[in-house]
Amino acid sequence: MLDINSILPELAQIGIALAGLVAAFLFMFGLHRMSSPVTAPSGIFVAGIGMAVAIVASFLYAFNVSSTTQPHIWINVALALTALALGGGLAWWSGRSVAMTSLPQMVAIYNGMGGGAAGAIAAVELFGGKTHGITVLIVTLLGALIGAVSFSGSLIAWAKLDGVIKKPLRFKGQQVFNATVLLVTLGVAVLIIYANDENIAQFISLPLSIYLFFVCALLLGIAMTLPIGGADMPVMISIFNAFTGLAVGLEGYVLQNPALMIAGMVVGAAGLLLTLLMAKAMNRSVGNVVFSNFGEITEHKQGEIEGELSPMQPGDAGIAMRYASSVIIIPGYGLAMAQGQGKLFEFVKLLQAGGVEVRFAVHPVAGRMPGQMDVLLAEAGVPYDMIFQLEDINDDFKSTEVALVIGANDVVNPAARTDKSSPIFGMPILNADQAKQAFVIKRGEGKGYAGIVNTLFYGDNCNMVYGDAQAVLIKMIEAVRGLGLTTTK
Ligand code: NAP
Repeated sequence: MLDINSILPELAQIGIALAGLVAAFLFMFGLHRMSSPVTAPSGIFVAGIGMAVAIVASFLYAFNVSSTTQPHIWINVALALTALALGGGLAWWSGRSVAMTSLPQMVAIYNGMGGGAAGAIAAVELFGGKTHGITVLIVTLLGALIGAVSFSGSLIAWAKLDGVIKKPLRFKGQQVFNATVLLVTLGVAVLIIYANDENIAQFISLPLSIYLFFVCALLLGIAMTLPIGGADMPVMISIFNAFTGLAVGLEGYVLQNPALMIAGMVVGAAGLLLTLLMAKAMNRSVGNVVFSNFGEITEHKQGEIEGELSPMQPGDAGIAMRYASSVIIIPGYGLAMAQGQGKLFEFVKLLQAGGVEVRFAVHPVAGRMPGQMDVLLAEAGVPYDMIFQLEDINDDFKSTEVALVIGANDVVNPAARTDKSSPIFGMPILNADQAKQAFVIKRGEGKGYAGIVNTLFYGDNCNMVYGDAQAVLIKMIEAVRGLGLTTTK
């Protein structure tokens, strides 16, 4: 008679391989669907199913080992299930309760968790004292280094996005300090590789080297991120995204887990592409973002600003737009803060009913995370064909009557074109200043993320409409409705 116990390990092996294949397909199909905002929600769902398949398959490892080689296997399974319930529950709760404006912080934390998990796998492998071949040991250490850097760096990124750390921390000799930390980390990694050599073992024990290695790697992540300031944070976050993927993929190789390898490489590659695209959108090289601030403490001094701010009442600005032929709306971080997207679309529909041509222009780094504005507008129900990316609409401002800037600042600052000393110099901006008239909705004279004055606001063709974005939009809607004109001009 067939003894099911004797073939269980083999069946588990086949199950793991098949699940890896299915998960890989679902990850890639999901990622493909994420390339358009129309199909992105289903893409996320499909990739999520892939992740669920990979997680369930990982429990098949329990049947793939004999109870003599792993006597505590069922305790481990129970621990894994508890961790899943805790982590899954926490993610479910935080995902449902997070405010739209806090999404970037959440992304940074989750990014860090992935890096930390990869680092933890490496730690188990290294402390477990299993006999590794040199290649596997190097891969483990590389994954541990990248994962730990991503973990501590992402925590600093979270603290910066959340306002816990308010300013970039820079000091003289920072570049040398960071390079030294990197070299020491690599040096300790070499010690771990040769830990069995008696000449080395007499100076430092293996566990101590492993602790030292992780401390240095974590310090490197912190030291790398502290000096990154203002406008460069999005690129840094996407670098950590790529790092986390790479670390997870490397540790997947160590565990010989196909789903982990593929998921890690997919995330790593997507993160790398996003990093390059973001850097391109800001007209910076990745190296320039990561290294340019090191060691220098240069305070940016902005030249004298000519002109003055001209305030305007919300109702007057709303009515002016109702009589305009074309309006381009530039949403920014303040719109998300005010949760004004619903009222904005209501206002837009009023303008459209009056025959005004209305389009949205989205800057790649508007808001606090890639795609935040697209998500915000989609949430309000704005059709995708009204939303244009920078390169597709920027030339049209010259022939547009009104540019309506809502809670955006850095992404429309003309200093990026002309002021070489500006921290955003070289970043392509939306040409709101080239429209016949610009209206800017913001609460007061608060600066944008990069902390600099915006010359657009002082232009002759610009009026400031002060107030919380949602409150201002409500007043604009009332004013336009008050005209009693609801049909096309
Ligand atoms: P921004 O430059 O940060 O400016 C936002 C403006 O919104 C502020 O000047 C603020 O002025 C106004 N505001 C805040 N709350 C408001 C409210 N309730 N109602 C109305 N206005 C409000 O925003 P942005 O133009 O979207 O530029 C994004 C910046 O963030 C860039 O520098 C980018 O590099 C950086 N960043 C982007 C990402 C990303 O991935 N997208 C990630 C991290 C950082 P008041 O205080 O006067 O109201």
